[in-house]
Amino acid sequence: MFNIDNLTRKNIQALVPYSSARDEFSGEAKVFLDANENSLGSPLTKWYNRYPDPHQQKVKEALSMVKAIGTEHIFLGNGSDECIDLLYRCFCNPGKDNVIICPPTYGMYEVSANINDVEVRKAPLLDDFELDLVHLENLVDAHTKLIWICSPNNPTGNSLNRNDIETVLNNFNGIVVIDEAYINFARQKSFIQELNDYPNLVVMQTFSKAWGLAGLRLGMAFASKEIIDVLNKVKPPYNINQATQEQALKALEEVGQVNDMIKELVAMRDALAEVFTQVPTVEKVYPSDANFLLVKIKDARKVYEYMLTKGIVLRDRSNVKLCEDCLRITIGTEKENTILVDALVEYLESNT
Ligand SMILES: *Cc1c(COP(=O)(O)O)cnc(C)c1O
Repeated sequence: MFNIDNLTRKNIQALVPYSSARDEFSGEAKVFLDANENSLGSPLTKWYNRYPDPHQQKVKEALSMVKAIGTEHIFLGNGSDECIDLLYRCFCNPGKDNVIICPPTYGMYEVSANINDVEVRKAPLLDDFELDLVHLENLVDAHTKLIWICSPNNPTGNSLNRNDIETVLNNFNGIVVIDEAYINFARQKSFIQELNDYPNLVVMQTFSKAWGLAGLRLGMAFASKEIIDVLNKVKPPYNINQATQEQALKALEEVGQVNDMIKELVAMRDALAEVFTQVPTVEKVYPSDANFLLVKIKDARKVYEYMLTKGIVLRDRSNVKLCEDCLRITIGTEKENTILVDALVEYLESNT
C-alpha cells in the first residue's frame, strides 16, 4: 500500500522548516518592519522592495480555476527543474534509494539524480516508443522511490499509452511522476483529473512551452495534499519571485490567447510533418503530440551541421539510443518554418 510516511526521507519528516517573516504575519498592517527590506523603495518598481508571497496564493487561485483543481493540490517551482530536484530531495535517500526512467527521455531526471547521488535504473522504451512494463516491473525493488514517465515524451514526441501508465500507477507503491510539459499540444487528456484516484501520482506541467513563458521560470506540480505539503516544507521560502508571480497572474487571464497559439502551433506542426514526409532523404517523421517533430533523416549529423552554417539551430539526437539519425525540430513561426524547409531543399540540391 502507498504510504507517504514510508516514502519521505526521515530527515525531511523531522525537518522544522524555515519560518519567514511573511509566514509568521500575513494579516493586514500599515507598517512592515519585520523583514529587513529597504523601506524607501527600489530603483525599479516600488513593490519590488518587498519579499514576495512565499505561498504564491494569488497565482495558485487563478491556476486552480484554469486547471479545475484545489489550490492545496498545487505546487509551484522555479521551473519544472526545481520540482524535479525537490522530488529527489524529499523522497530519495542519497546512496541508498533508486528511481526508474524510460529513455530516450528528458535529460534532467538523470542529471538531477546524479546531483543528488541517487541511483538511476533504466527501462528503455520499446521500438514503438511505448513503456516496457515487464522490464519496468523487474527493476523495482524496496528502494525504488520514483518512476519518471514523460508523456508526451521528449524527444520522441508521442503520448504514452494511457492503459500502460495506469498499470504503473496501480502496481507501484512509490511515486509515479508524469511529466506533462507538452500536454497542451496532445490529443490525450491530462492526468490531473485522476489525482483523486491515485495517491501516488505527481503530475508536472510548465509555463515554458504552451504558455510561452520559458523566461519566467515557472513550473507546476499537482498531487495529493500530503505530497504537496512535503514539497512545500523543503522548497526555498521565496522560490517564485515577485515579477514572475505578477506576470503569471496576467498570463492566466489570457487563456484564450494561449489556446489560439496552441491551435496555430498544432496546425503548423501537422503541415510541417507533411512537408518532411515528401523529402526523399527523410526516412520517418514520428507522430507528434508536442510542439516539435522527431525526424529520422539520412546523414542527420551532416544536416544538423549544414543548418548551423545557415544560422538554424536544431537539436541533434542522432547519437541517442532509439533515436539514431534523428533530429528534433521545434515548430517555429510560419516564416522560420519556411526558412528551414528552404534550407533543407538547398542542402539536398548541393548533396545529390
Ligand atoms: C521543456 C521541458 C520541461 C520544462 O522545464 P522548465 O524547467 O519548466 O522550463 C519539463 N519537462 C520536459 C520533458 C520538457 O521538455
